Amino acid sequence: MVSRVIPVDSFDLVIFGGTGDLARRKILPGLFRRFCAGQMPPEAQIVGAARTEMDDAGFRDMVRAAIDEFGGGAEDPGQLDSFLERVGYVAVDAKGDGGWKALKDRLRDDCVRAFYFSVGPALFGDLAERLRAFGLATETSRIVVEKPFGHDLESARALNRELAQYFDETQIYRIDHYLGKETVQNLMAVRFGNVLFEPLWNAQFVDHIQITVAETVGVGGRGGYYDDSGAMRDMVQNHLMQLLCLIAMEPPAQFEPDSVRDEKLKVIRALDPVEPHHIVRGQYGADEKQPGYRAHVENERSRTESFVALKAHVSNWRWAGTPFYLRTGKMLRARTSEIAVVFKDAPHSIFGAEAGRHNNVLAIRLQPNEGMTLDVTIKEPGPGGMRLVDVPLDMTFADALGPDGANVPDAYERLVMDVIRGNQTLFMRGDEVEAAWAWTDPMIDGWEARGDVPKPYDPGSSGPEDALMLLHRDGRRWRDIKA
Ligand code: NAP
Repeated sequence: MVSRVIPVDSFDLVIFGGTGDLARRKILPGLFRRFCAGQMPPEAQIVGAARTEMDDAGFRDMVRAAIDEFGGGAEDPGQLDSFLERVGYVAVDAKGDGGWKALKDRLRDDCVRAFYFSVGPALFGDLAERLRAFGLATETSRIVVEKPFGHDLESARALNRELAQYFDETQIYRIDHYLGKETVQNLMAVRFGNVLFEPLWNAQFVDHIQITVAETVGVGGRGGYYDDSGAMRDMVQNHLMQLLCLIAMEPPAQFEPDSVRDEKLKVIRALDPVEPHHIVRGQYGADEKQPGYRAHVENERSRTESFVALKAHVSNWRWAGTPFYLRTGKMLRARTSEIAVVFKDAPHSIFGAEAGRHNNVLAIRLQPNEGMTLDVTIKEPGPGGMRLVDVPLDMTFADALGPDGANVPDAYERLVMDVIRGNQTLFMRGDEVEAAWAWTDPMIDGWEARGDVPKPYDPGSSGPEDALMLLHRDGRRWRDIKA
């Protein structure tokens, strides 16, 4: 049932930061899986680039170890050797002139050229500049930039301006890996490929929308970076915002990069400023197994949030009056990402008060078990009269699509192949990123000016009590955070 694999054009892909965590955990194993799937043409070449001095053989050993550790998916052990023949390494310093000539000599002229900036954002400008200065970038070359794209509106604008000096917007691929998830794209298929949902997809029929991205882990080894950013910058400004856009946007005229991105941008621009009392920030405390957030980031006075919940409004005809509740946090009860479209009650119940209140909920699960459920109200079986019960119509992809349904490409694999194909639909445009910062900045500035301290919450909980109250005050409740 999984769609046919169409090989991409021949390419040279340079991964700056090829020795780093993201390259080892995601990019390189993902490329290997695409190779095994037959999507990579035989002459394709992958070149790792970083400062560490290493030869091709040393890098291949590192890639082999990374694929062993983080999952490859080869059916035939010989496939890994064959993949590694396409992998090489050049030592390059983004801030110096060493290595650039050697890197240029490695690249071919007659194929797609892509440069993946898997390094800290402080190096994006240096890399872009040197790619031009040393003549590596051609008019059709692409660059892929990782998050975080800026720390606020001003820095995102500066970064956009800097990259624009060297590359056209059509050559810049800003990755948000949430957009590469199968379910996220399915959201568009469900909305715009069926007649069932779109007529109901508005304030008249939708009571509210919940978007939850919950993690069970703490800040881990990223303490320094995280304490400087927090959940709003790290998750809401990008990932949750993208999900909100796909839920709220108007149907684009075509499934084509600028049509889709224009519609997403309109949503971001239609977002009202969020009132301070509609934002709840939290910080996880300690439990018997581990210390709390402040110990993790080694900052006993930290006021950075590891949890945030908020109520947003999209001010347009479709969504006037329908709240969008967003929440994300670390050290919560379960690892789950879910969008729930909660429909209104039926306008009149013919079954009387004892049948209770029931409503339809379309829940789109990004993880675990990517899939969708639609809660439908039916009669409770048995002789007890007309009692109603909500049952889920469950479409877990792994079940619905057979064994292949569980083998859909990981987000990074799909997105890297889109870069080679030259398809920007699932990448953020510069104006989208800036508009998202323009919405989140006043919230952050506001709590910083007020000196707000995040509310403590217990590890393994659903977040601070105030987040429950945010919905409770509106006569609603969050869906359970469960795996
Ligand atoms: P990392 O493990 O610290 O790796 C950084 C890489 O950059 C290393 O390969 C390093 O190698 C190279 N590097 C550093 N300075 C360099 C220079 N002057 N010239 C050339 N190469 C240089 O970082 P990461 O976790 O892989 O993250 C990379 C980027 O992806 C960051 O922007 C991060 O925010 C983003 N990201 C990461 C993840 C993740 O899961 N890790 C998820 C989302 C986004 P040398 O020291 O040998 O130069």
